[in-house]
Amino acid sequence: MDDKESPGRREEEPRGAYRLSDPVVAERFMALEALGHNSSDVIVVLNHGGFVVYGNPVAQQFFELSAEEGVGTDALGLIHPDDHDRVLQGFVGLMERPGGSIRESLRVVTPSGLEKELELVATNSFDNPAIGGVLVNGQDVTQRNRDQAELVSLAERFRVAFAENMAPMTFTDLEDRIIDVNDAMCEMVGYAREELVGRDSTTFTYVEDVGITEESHRRALAGTAPQTRYVKRYRRKDGRVITVEVSRATAVGPDGAPQYFVFSERDITEERKMTAELSKRALHDPLTGLANRSLFEDRLDQAHARARRHGGFGAVLLIDLDDFKGVNDTYGHVIGDELLAAIADRLRRVARSTDTLCRFGGDEFLVLVEEIASADQARVIAERVLEEMVAPFSLRGTTFVQRASIGVAIFDPSAEDVSTLVQSADIALYEAKRQGRGRAVVFTPSMHQEAVSRFTLAQDLSLAVERGEMSMAFQPIIDLANGEVVGYESLMRWHHPERGAVPPDVFIPLAEQSNLIYDLGAFALRAAAEGMTRLPRTDGYPPYVTVNLSARQFHDRNLPQLVAGALRHHDVAPHRLLLEITESVALEDITESLAIIEELTNLGVGIALDDFGTGFSSLSYLVQLRPRAIKIDQSFVRPAAPSPQSDAILELILLLGRKLGVMMIAEGIETPAQYNRLRGVNCRYGQGFLWSPAVRLDEVEDLIARLGESPPIDHSRRRRGRMSERHVVDE
Ligand code: C2E
Ligand code: MG
Ligand code: MG
Repeated sequence: MDDKESPGRREEEPRGAYRLSDPVVAERFMALEALGHNSSDVIVVLNHGGFVVYGNPVAQQFFELSAEEGVGTDALGLIHPDDHDRVLQGFVGLMERPGGSIRESLRVVTPSGLEKELELVATNSFDNPAIGGVLVNGQDVTQRNRDQAELVSLAERFRVAFAENMAPMTFTDLEDRIIDVNDAMCEMVGYAREELVGRDSTTFTYVEDVGITEESHRRALAGTAPQTRYVKRYRRKDGRVITVEVSRATAVGPDGAPQYFVFSERDITEERKMTAELSKRALHDPLTGLANRSLFEDRLDQAHARARRHGGFGAVLLIDLDDFKGVNDTYGHVIGDELLAAIADRLRRVARSTDTLCRFGGDEFLVLVEEIASADQARVIAERVLEEMVAPFSLRGTTFVQRASIGVAIFDPSAEDVSTLVQSADIALYEAKRQGRGRAVVFTPSMHQEAVSRFTLAQDLSLAVERGEMSMAFQPIIDLANGEVVGYESLMRWHHPERGAVPPDVFIPLAEQSNLIYDLGAFALRAAAEGMTRLPRTDGYPPYVTVNLSARQFHDRNLPQLVAGALRHHDVAPHRLLLEITESVALEDITESLAIIEELTNLGVGIALDDFGTGFSSLSYLVQLRPRAIKIDQSFVRPAAPSPQSDAILELILLLGRKLGVMMIAEGIETPAQYNRLRGVNCRYGQGFLWSPAVRLDEVEDLIARLGESPPIDHSRRRRGRMSERHVVDE
């Protein structure tokens, strides 16, 4: 073999030049065998031309070639084409440096198509007679490289997942000591990495929530919750408290024992705020900030469940503002809204922290009171609410008094169902209003019965006009001086097909609660006007007739038109009609009342103040109202306990009327004694059962005849010839 042979010439070398049969080769081969047979390395010897002269068993396995196949193979042919140039260059260089060596890492493609990696040291050992070639000593690093590549990519994956994760992350050991945190975590809590590593999570955990971490660790170590998610608060370095959702995973060792914890955190402060705001909006009344109906119902159910479990009473207070509509109408909705908010504040003052306050809608509020010892306590709380309402409200320079009525419904541990509780409170509220407002009434089952019958009655009433069940009755008004009939009060009658006569004290308030009152009012005016065309004259003069107006009728914008229409339709002189309103209705809003009254009196009709003396008469207002008549309430005419004081009041009222030039009519005279007393204090007119109750129009003729024939009072000195017309405005 020529030492100077260049690899370029190897193509010309006969492939079989190194057959084992060649004794020279065979001898060398033996020496190599001794060298490589037991080595775990890949050992190959190449000749000048780069052909394989020898390959040990490991090499044979590695290259997938038997000794027979391998020897004489062009080594370059075993190498991955991409590595050819580099390897060839190295080999050529090596050939020029006897004893020199190169380190090479290359890829091999085996006959079966496997790609392997070989890390080798090639030594120019031509000078070594035992080798006489390039000794290649290599290791199969395929697996190692693969493992390494995997490791690298794992590390990279972890680096990206941890260090560069936008989500804050923390590693701790099992004692909660921080092993590492990522940048996002540092940013979230406002600490530098160095300030955290080595310390424990109490560094940034909100004091009150330290227990949450401890509990989670305890469960993780007990193996009940290797992975978990919880919410706790962190205190940032700058002191700001944030709410964080923490996901914790436990890393376990090969033995399955926990090694450390990995936390991924999420700042949910803003999210929480928003959901809280949204749910607040969904469950609260925006004006007052109180709970809305659905939240209230929820709380009521919970309270009911608690009462059943632990005993104790609960109560629902339904609070309704008296005449709140008036505030809105007079001062506008802005003030109305402010007043509602101010009322909500007062309710907050009365309520305990466990109570639920709710705006039920409009001017109605609900209070859910829990854990009271007795039904009486509910009443006490209701009274406190009423007391709280006593002080006037001051808004934008206006001062109001706003009273309320309260219906109370109570539940005890045995209550089956609370869904009807608000309804019961509503029934009690109705009762409170009926009893004169500004008070609290506790629901009783009998009220429910009444409510039911009220409801069916209201249904019947809505059809009563249409079905011809309504009529007007007329009660004569008498000149007490001579017993003459000078006018009539028209009073509405309802003949119910099953119940018979239903008194107006029952059906008028019922009608007032719905728009039915307008139908009834229109009917009354029409029927009274019709009656005026048929009522007998007294001494040739037509009598006057009074028609009662309820509060809502009085405030009805259509009233003047309705009155004028009824009079015109029956061709009745307006001055014969007197409209009765109670003094409380008239004085409720004096400015508005004066405007309405002016419109009515412009039509020519007169006003009579009904039930006079029962309200809080203000004399100056009385003068402004300029009524044509005042009807003295029956309680002065038939006092429960007559006394010199009540006589004095009666005398004063009469004196006042005379001074103002107003007709004074005493109501409800039943006995001659009452008659005499009224005459004794100079009361000029009166009505009452002493003469007659209200009768049907077709009975009036008979009534007049009967009164003429046998008057209940003997007016022997009766002055004849007085003209009825003149009674209308008394001397
Ligand atoms: P009011 O306007 O004060 O009517 C007087 C009431 O006293 C009438 O009762 C009358 O029948 C009754 N009364 C008259 N004389 C006597 C007496 O000597 N003794 C006793 N104990 N009572 C006497 P009525 O008809 O039951 O009406 C009750 C109330 O219903 C009326 O009180 C009035 O407020 C209302 N009302 C009656 N008719 C109408 C109507 O057409 N429209 C409106 N809005 N309300 C009406
Ligand atoms: Mg009346
Ligand atoms: Mg009256």
